[in-house]
Amino acid sequence: MPARPVILTVDDDPGVSRAVARDLRREYGEHHRIVRAESGPSALDALKEIALRGEQVAVILADQRMPRMSGVEFLEQAMDLFPRARRVLLTAYADTEAAITAINVVDLDHYLLKPWDPPEEKLYPVVDSLLAAWRDTPDRPSAPVRIVGHRWSSRSYELRDLVARNQLSYDFLRADEPEGARLLEAAGADPDQLPVVITEDGTALIQPTDAQVVESAGLATTASEAVYDLVVVGGGPGGLGASVYGGSEGLRTVLVESRATGGQAGTSSRIENYLGFPNGVSGDQLTTRARLQAEKFGTEVLTTRTVTSLEPRGRARVITFDDGSEITAHSVVLATGVSYRMLDCPGLEEHTGQGVFYGAAATEAASCAAQDVYIVGGANSAGQAAMNFSRHASRVIMLVRGPSLTASMSHYLIAQIEANPLIEVRTCTEVVGAAGTEHLEKLTLRDRNSGAEETVEASWLFVFIGAAPRTDWLDGVVARDGRGFVLTGPDLPGGPNGRRPAGWEMERDPFHLETSVPGVFAVGDVRAESVKRVASAVGEGAMAVSLVHRWLENR
Ligand SMILES: Cc1cc2nc3c(=O)[nH]c(=O)nc-3n(C[C@H](O)[C@H](O)[C@H](O)COP(=O)(O)OP(=O)(O)OC[C@H]3O[C@@H](n4cnc5c(N)ncnc54)[C@H](O)[C@@H]3O)c2cc1C
Repeated sequence: MPARPVILTVDDDPGVSRAVARDLRREYGEHHRIVRAESGPSALDALKEIALRGEQVAVILADQRMPRMSGVEFLEQAMDLFPRARRVLLTAYADTEAAITAINVVDLDHYLLKPWDPPEEKLYPVVDSLLAAWRDTPDRPSAPVRIVGHRWSSRSYELRDLVARNQLSYDFLRADEPEGARLLEAAGADPDQLPVVITEDGTALIQPTDAQVVESAGLATTASEAVYDLVVVGGGPGGLGASVYGGSEGLRTVLVESRATGGQAGTSSRIENYLGFPNGVSGDQLTTRARLQAEKFGTEVLTTRTVTSLEPRGRARVITFDDGSEITAHSVVLATGVSYRMLDCPGLEEHTGQGVFYGAAATEAASCAAQDVYIVGGANSAGQAAMNFSRHASRVIMLVRGPSLTASMSHYLIAQIEANPLIEVRTCTEVVGAAGTEHLEKLTLRDRNSGAEETVEASWLFVFIGAAPRTDWLDGVVARDGRGFVLTGPDLPGGPNGRRPAGWEMERDPFHLETSVPGVFAVGDVRAESVKRVASAVGEGAMAVSLVHRWLENR
């Protein structure tokens, strides 16, 4: 029997909380499980448990005026766990400001005034319509995969990061603890065969590949067709933008992503400057919604598949995957973004995933609780991470090579960092060494002015030192600049025909986002001279689709 979908209500007044739950139970108790909580944090704990059990939440009703966490703040975090649950804010009087904030921040579905008497007139019609809407687009039943591994193993970390970034719920069990050891034995695996992943239906995957793990949770990894109108390579904001527009405009579209949709933006704890979200939006939220939107319009999304080559064959564009399989398309959008640059100093490489991380590594935030966290970098991504880690860590130390943050970071973030007593900024400082046995234990820091070196106890280092495109696989196929960014439109080196690159066979100039291969476009961070922003990547993705139409019409 599948579990009944949950209706959750949270109100800090125990009397009201019981009354709301009673009203809900009377009308919906037969087909739904009614869960009630008396604070935002306890409601979040309840939601996490529900997610771990793989159950679904249909509707959440939250009181706005709660002491530790407001209704809007709670709903915002609840959305990360159950993005499709319908959201209702309860207020005791007409609190228009709270309602407007809630509409903007959590995409509120309804706003209800308490008390509602009789519920038949004021409460049930609202909940009925929300349940009907939810039934049309429920959350994918989350498969609470269990990962058994060594606490400090890089591969265990990679798998946790993979499932978390694909919005799948998981439980991590250490192999040296009783529950982990029990599962390992049940799976018939030896402690030297870690990590082991136990899927929702109890299948044990021993040292699985990324694809095996996401497939077990119901995500697609292989294309259903051999030929598409449009292949989008890369599932960050640019690729998702192209996928939403490609699908919505009737193109047979497939999106291919090597790890998890969202790209860099998916790792951001809070994107503050994306249009339409005055209080910011987490990368997770934005990604989940964009992916749903793309799928709603019929775009196929393949996860954990890396494209390794692109070959024009006549007017067809052939894409090859890392396993050698191919798909053919009439057009291609390259949206492969950029990846973090690696910090090069003795001891760091062997601790990657064991205390040293590139990017925010959100899955690790809780492990850093009450410990010092070191962050390398002085740009916005480092600043956002510092703000985020300061919620968990005892202290966050930012190591910045330059003399100040002003040249590299937005003003609003500098102000937030300066006002945060838990963040210390050490300028003119670089990491020159790392050491530890199983996990990072020490860092050696050098003062760039005096040359003085200091060794500090450090278990956590997060590195944000800029990024580079990974486009080697396009070498000799599309024109790139000296740093590997893909050249498009007016930035292409002019061939004998002025604005036309060498070998260009069309009787027209390349379109604005078109590469040196007709019908192949590049958008977002991977494109030379692009603005490295979520909004511009999304915009270019949308624009590329209109150019795809022009290419398809006049091939
Ligand atoms: C921590 C952080 C915070 C940020 N904050 C902000 C912010 O507040 N505001 C803002 O505007 N911008 C912000 N940015 C920048 C913003 O995220 C990027 O500009 C944006 O994500 C670029 O989108 P994209 O689609 O071009 O590329 P990416 O987001 O880099 O996505 C590229 C995707 O392509 C995939 N891929 C790469 N190669 C292949 C291949 N061969 N086959 C298949 N898939 C492949 C990658 O796995 C990746 O998922 C932030 C970036 C970071 C890292």
